[in-house]
Amino acid sequence: MNHQHFDIAIIGAGPAGAVAASLLNQQGFKVCVLEKQHFPRFVIGESLLPHCMEFIEAAGFLPAVQAEPSFQFKNGAAFTWGSRYTEIDFTDKFTAGHGTTFQVRRALFDDILIKEAQKQGITVRFGDSVSAYNDDTAELTVQPENGEPYVLQTKFVLDASGYGRVLPRLLDLETPSQLPPRAAHFTHIDDNITAPDFDRNKILISTHPKHRDVWFWLIPFADNRCSIGVVGLPERFAGLDDSEHILKTFALQVPMLARILANANWDNEFPFRYITGYSANVKSLYGKHFALLGNAAEFLDPVFSSGVTIAMHSAKLATDVLSKQLRGQNVDWQTEFAEPLMLGVDTFRTYVNGWYDGSFQDVIYAEQRSPDITRMISAILAGYAWDESNPYVAKSERRLAALAEMVGEAVYR
Ligand code: FAD
Repeated sequence: MNHQHFDIAIIGAGPAGAVAASLLNQQGFKVCVLEKQHFPRFVIGESLLPHCMEFIEAAGFLPAVQAEPSFQFKNGAAFTWGSRYTEIDFTDKFTAGHGTTFQVRRALFDDILIKEAQKQGITVRFGDSVSAYNDDTAELTVQPENGEPYVLQTKFVLDASGYGRVLPRLLDLETPSQLPPRAAHFTHIDDNITAPDFDRNKILISTHPKHRDVWFWLIPFADNRCSIGVVGLPERFAGLDDSEHILKTFALQVPMLARILANANWDNEFPFRYITGYSANVKSLYGKHFALLGNAAEFLDPVFSSGVTIAMHSAKLATDVLSKQLRGQNVDWQTEFAEPLMLGVDTFRTYVNGWYDGSFQDVIYAEQRSPDITRMISAILAGYAWDESNPYVAKSERRLAALAEMVGEAVYR
């Protein structure tokens, strides 16, 4: 079999792969990105968080992202449940850093990032799928869609294969998520929203009036279209036969969605789709010659749109450690990569669990909220879940429990 040499191979050309490739290329390493599909390709995950702008900027992709007119400016999140409505302004937050970002069609966004990486001189091979890996030798077997398999000899491999979860599968690293398997049904529509109380600069998250564990996203794009989806346990949707039926039936039970979408055109330009079993976990985030980035590692839940931000944050952490290692310095992947990464993932986990057990929803929908605490929560929802100076990061579980109790007594009980 033909053998080729690169310093680093990156599996997957999504946001984690593109950012990692650029950061390593800046350090002078020879990087090869292997991507089994051809771009542009669809992937779910259209609402970004401000924190990820730091990584887009560091990778040199910011001007290209800012220049794309179809990306919708985003400065916060709005939440509705029954007659309640709460807005969180990401520009008014505890942690310093970007306060705005974009809502994007991922096919276009991911294509822009990887093309910018190619312009920086990075080798990207589309249509090349990784089929085997030897961690003792750091050798990947690659199957091009047309042609003979070849071996890529590397010093290190970063797995940014997202839902492909290439190395977790090949190395038997997968463990079940502690979150129950939920399903998401979604599409894109002409929303035709004219309601003055709808803010196109924010993602709208709605809670189902009766089932508080069922929620909806409405992610506006800049061209009168939006992405809309419903998430819930499969049994909630029992008796409804397809994604179109499920999404329309449930969405129109939400008072605000029914009102603002009264003139929507649910066309079939973008098919109704569903995804399930997306929450996943792994036994280890790294090995002798590899590390897992983004969704190839742990994926929690989409409710706070944290996926791309966690993916890019993991790329930054891993490439910092890897650059040191390849320069001959001593590194410790546990304390320099896995533990720092899990700090933010665990912060999001607290608020995801709190969303589904209702405690964080009580906080979000409280009629009276402290401005200081709201700024701390705003920072986390803007993606700054690694800022340990924020008490709602450092002691997230304890703080959320105390806050939910306070809110429950003051407002709901
Ligand atoms: P991906 O973007 O998935 O890229 C991985 C790439 O690897 C793919 O292009 C794939 O083709 C390639 N690949 C796979 N297997 C192989 C192989 N064998 N060889 C070579 N290449 C391979 N996140 C947000 O930030 N905002 C949101 O609003 C949001 N909404 C979501 C809604 C739902 C319902 C779900 C389930 C998730 C959502 N997410 C969201 C999460 C988001 O989808 C992911 O976190 C994000 O795409 C992860 O990026 P990545 O770079 O890790 O992987």
